[in-house]
Amino acid sequence: MSKSRPVVKIGIDFDGVLAYNPFRIIRAPITYVKRRFFGIRKLRFYVPNTPFERFVWALLHESSVLPARGIRLLPELAARPDVKLYLVTARFGYLQPSLYRWLDRHGVRDLFADILINRRDEQPHEHKLQTINRLGLNYYIEDNWDIVEYLQGRTDTRVMWIYNIADRHYGYPDKYPFLEAALGEVRHNLPERK
Ligand SMILES: [Mg+2]
Repeated sequence: MSKSRPVVKIGIDFDGVLAYNPFRIIRAPITYVKRRFFGIRKLRFYVPNTPFERFVWALLHESSVLPARGIRLLPELAARPDVKLYLVTARFGYLQPSLYRWLDRHGVRDLFADILINRRDEQPHEHKLQTINRLGLNYYIEDNWDIVEYLQGRTDTRVMWIYNIADRHYGYPDKYPFLEAALGEVRHNLPERK
C-alpha cells in the first residue's frame, strides 16, 4: 500500500452511538411529545454543577451503557493504515475515569487514535463542532438530532445520524438505525485494499 494514501478520519460519539443506553427507550416518548406537541427543542444542555448533581449524573452514565451493535467492526477498521478512529464525546471531564473503564472493559480504548472529551465543560454542540473541525474529520457519527441539526452548514465533515424511535421520521438523508449500519456505509466508501 502506498504511504501517500490519504487517511480517512472517522469520529464516533460515545453515548448513544458506541454505547447504547437502554434509558433512551424510556426517554424517547417524552422527547417525542415535547417536540411534536410543544415544539420544544433543546440546544442548551444540562451541565451538572454541584457535587451532588455530578454524583447523580455520573451514576446515570456509569450504569446505563451497553456496547452498541457494530462495536465489533472497530478492530478491523482501526487495523487499516488508511483509517484513523477518534472518539468525540461531550462527556464532561470528571466522567473520564468511568469512560476509560468502559472502553477498557470492552477492549476498544487502544483502537482510537485519540479520545476527545469535553475538558472545559462546554456546551456539547459547541464542543463537538470545534473538535470535528479541528481534527478535520471525514465522518462523524452522532445520535443527538439537535446536534446533527446544529452541525448542518457549519462543517465539511459528513455527519451520519443514528436515529431513535422518537425522531426516526425526520427527513435527514444520512441516517442509520445503529453504529453497525453507519460503519458499514463508511467501509463501503473506503478505497479497495490491495
Ligand atoms: Mg450521543
